[in-house]
Formats: sequence, structure tokens, C-alpha cells
Amino acid sequence: MSRVYNFSAGPSMLPVEVLERAQKEMLDCNGSGQSVMEMSHRSKEYQAIIDKAEANLRKIMEIPDNYKVLFLQGGASTQFAMIPLNFGTKNKKADYVTTGVWSKKAMAEAKKYIEVNEVASSADKTFSYIPELDKSMFSPDADYVHITYNNTIYGTRYTSLPDTGDVPIIADMSSMILSEVVDVSKFGMIYAGAQKNMGPAGVTVVIVREDLIGDALDITPTMLKYSTHAENGSMFNTPPTYAIYICGLVYEWIEKMGGIAAIQKINEEKAAMLYDYLDASDMFNATVVAKDRSLMNAPFVTGNEELDAKFVAESKAAGFVNLKGHRSVGGMRASIYNAMPVEGVKALVDFMKKFEAENK
Ligand SMILES: *Cc1c(COP(=O)(O)O)cnc(C)c1O
Repeated sequence: MSRVYNFSAGPSMLPVEVLERAQKEMLDCNGSGQSVMEMSHRSKEYQAIIDKAEANLRKIMEIPDNYKVLFLQGGASTQFAMIPLNFGTKNKKADYVTTGVWSKKAMAEAKKYIEVNEVASSADKTFSYIPELDKSMFSPDADYVHITYNNTIYGTRYTSLPDTGDVPIIADMSSMILSEVVDVSKFGMIYAGAQKNMGPAGVTVVIVREDLIGDALDITPTMLKYSTHAENGSMFNTPPTYAIYICGLVYEWIEKMGGIAAIQKINEEKAAMLYDYLDASDMFNATVVAKDRSLMNAPFVTGNEELDAKFVAESKAAGFVNLKGHRSVGGMRASIYNAMPVEGVKALVDFMKKFEAENK
């Protein structure tokens, strides 16, 4: 068997230990004589699996008791509509910070239902930084403030939270959840599609402060109300049962690795290894200002499209796959999520050094 180093932005690598355990439990999970895929979601066997997944997520993220954890479908993209429908209800207005493709999509969806104020944007420099945010920029009567905590395509991340007063912050954490310690109590709501750093595509995790749930706009479809899912333990209808099970295995793996703080240290080490080389290289350059660089997604360019294409082709042949950059940035992007081992990043940097020497 040969496995490649997969630098895909998502769906992306999963820990080998998790895949092997899923393989072992494929035909008979926990002595049930069934695959998790075959279980009724109403069975006590499956209830134990989803309960354990939630309990482990609560433990590793230290989620306070006054927050609900929901396992939903529709991807992070469905949250773009659910957020204004459910939280834009008091003054029907919200503040959005634009830091890339995903925050633009979130804002465009909100505009269909409520008044939206764009607080700041980093569009002027191709989203290569996080804008400075000052309390005076936010509307005191906004129902919420939306930010994209890690920008998967442009490779930026927040390193501190803006002061928004009493206005709750809602954060898209799709590409950084579980990668570094965050204080959940500072957020009104956190959401993340699983397929980047948490599990397979098909489930979206929502962590929401209880007092914000329940006041949706009248037009909100039943399936798009947080209250529907909160009141039914994510079982109003059939949840994405197998995807939730794999996420549960990933949470157990994180705990075994020493928790999120321990994973964060490894992630910082991996990112430093890559960025240090990019800063020293005469051929490759990181596209993001140093202070706002993502720990998870590192875009880089040579400045020469032909050379970029040559690098992508040769790296692929050498077992480093999915390094081609997003079409809106060009060049390359290495997504180095939790499951990417330190050796994978080290091997990539060695390969880049060799490529640089051979193509001077
Ligand atoms: C991938 C991604 C999305 C879209 O997720 P889907 O689950 O495909 O809807 C949204 N936001 C961010 C930050 C992402 O990285």
C-alpha cells in the first residue's frame, strides 16, 4: 500500500489511525453485527455513537454548558442562509467583515433577508491580510457580526477577535476548527463544514449559544431553524450518520494526541517550517503578510506561471498531491490540516529545495 501526502484544501487527509479503526469496525461496530452505515439512527447503538461524539467534542473544545452542539447537513454554505434567517431577527441588520470568497458568499446570502453592513474588506490587496478592526466600525444595533476566522483560499487567519461590545460574533471556522485553542464563550455561534479539518464531507458542526436560538424570521423553513435541530438532538430527520461517526473517531484521536493545545503546537511547528523556507527562498514566495498567515492553508507562488505548472506536475509525480492553487490566487497552496504529519511538511520542503536548485 502506498499513501500520498495530500495537500488538498478539502475534502482532505484524515488520520491513518482513524481510517484503520473505521476499517476494523466496518462490518461489525461495537458488537452490533452491523456497519454504522446500516444502523437505524433511532437505535440505541447509534444514539451511543452520536452522544459520544458530542461529549468528546465538548471536552476537547471546552464548550460551555449553555451552548448547543448540532450536527447538520447542507455544508457551511447552508449556514450562510440559516444565520441571517435565525439571528437577523431583532433589528434585521448585521455587520460582515469581507476577507475572501467565503465571507463574500456569506454576506451575499444575508442580503437576501436582512440589511447588511460591510464593516471592512481586504479586497484591495487580493485578501492577503486581515483588516484592522476597531470597535467604532461596528454598528451597536447589529443583530450579529460575521467573520471568516480562517480564509481557506487566501490563507489568512484572525489572531485576535474584534471588540464588538454586546453584539455576538458568528465565525465560520470550517478550515481551522480543532487546529488551535479558541475560547468558545467569546462567540455567539461557531460553524464548520467537517471536510477540512474534522471528518468526511456531509456533516456541518454548529456550536451555538442557547439564548440566541428560537427567534427565526417567519419565512424560515423548518429544516433551516436551529430550534428544530436543537429540540431534537440533531435527529429531527435522518442525520448524516456515518460522517458523524467518523468525526467522533477524529475527536477521540485528538484527545489521544494530547488535546487541541498539543495539536496546535504541532501545527505551529509545521507552518513555521513551511513559511520559514518560503521567506528564505529566492524562487517561492508566500502571498500573505506575515502576521496574518494561516496555520492551515499556505498559498505561495513563483511569479512565473510556467514554473508553477512545472512544480505542480513534478510534485504530484513525487507523491505530493493537490498542491495547485485556487483559481482565484493562482500558484500553489499547501493545506496542512491536523492530519498532515510533520514528516509530510518536511518532505515537501525538501522537495521544494531540490526543485529550486534544479530550476535556477
Ligand atoms: C469550504 C468552505 C466553505 C464551504 O463549505 P461547504 O461545506 O462546501 O458548503 C465555507 N467556508 C469556508 C471557510 C470554507 O473553507
